Amino acid sequence: MKILVPVKRVVDFNIKPRVKSDGSGVETAGLKMSMNPFDEIAVEEAVRLREKGIASEVVVVSIGVQQAQETLRTAMAMGADRALLVLSEESPEPLAVAKVLMKLVEKEQPHLVILGKQAIDDDMNATGQMLAGLLGWAQATFVSKIEIAENRARVHREIDGGLEELSLKLPAVITADLRLNEPRYATLPNIMKAKKKPIETLNAADLGVDMMPRLQILSVAEPANKKACVLVESVSELVEKLRNEAKVL
Ligand code: AMP
Repeated sequence: MKILVPVKRVVDFNIKPRVKSDGSGVETAGLKMSMNPFDEIAVEEAVRLREKGIASEVVVVSIGVQQAQETLRTAMAMGADRALLVLSEESPEPLAVAKVLMKLVEKEQPHLVILGKQAIDDDMNATGQMLAGLLGWAQATFVSKIEIAENRARVHREIDGGLEELSLKLPAVITADLRLNEPRYATLPNIMKAKKKPIETLNAADLGVDMMPRLQILSVAEPANKKACVLVESVSELVEKLRNEAKVL
């Protein structure tokens, strides 16, 4: 069984990015970039399935600029076998990414695609769903447990009311939630080994995918500053504040 794991290069989750002065987006120049945290979870799950002997190969793919190679090397240091880099502009939209992934699914014929549930740069939460729609495959989003047996994936999904259990016929698309696992740190020997693993570079245009953006960013703004909290001493003080200071909408 082959597993394909798409990994996105995003601004590191520890960094608070600034909005560009012209409000056209977020300033990313010079910032530390890392693998999207949910994609680390997806890679970890795929590698565990290979270690258990359920999967035979884990292929990682990133769509973006040349530097996304570093993200692919990290995924291979965690245990992925090989990588595909599809060159395109900085941050392609989910539909374009899903179309590229569909072409790679045709080329690679995986039995399972495990994505992150969302990329933390723009929180789209759309690529996995769109890919499953384009392929006509079964899908399970927000997954916190995966068991593979008899050509089916039995999964737990995190939903508002608790957990939902689904049994999907393979091939399928799964998106990883936070509680699926705790990703490993790449060890130094594995980082060295990953340097020798192959990265195949392709162009989005060669795959025949139109990457033209369909979304237009009108403006990006910093969130409004929250007012400081006040601790009250007593219930009567609270009631007094509610009466006199609270704004009734
Ligand atoms: P999104 O729909 O943008 O929130 O992204 C959901 C998931 O799709 C991510 O966690 C990745 O697994 C995958 N993905 C999105 N964009 C890319 C990209 N440019 N390259 C590789 N994978 C991506």
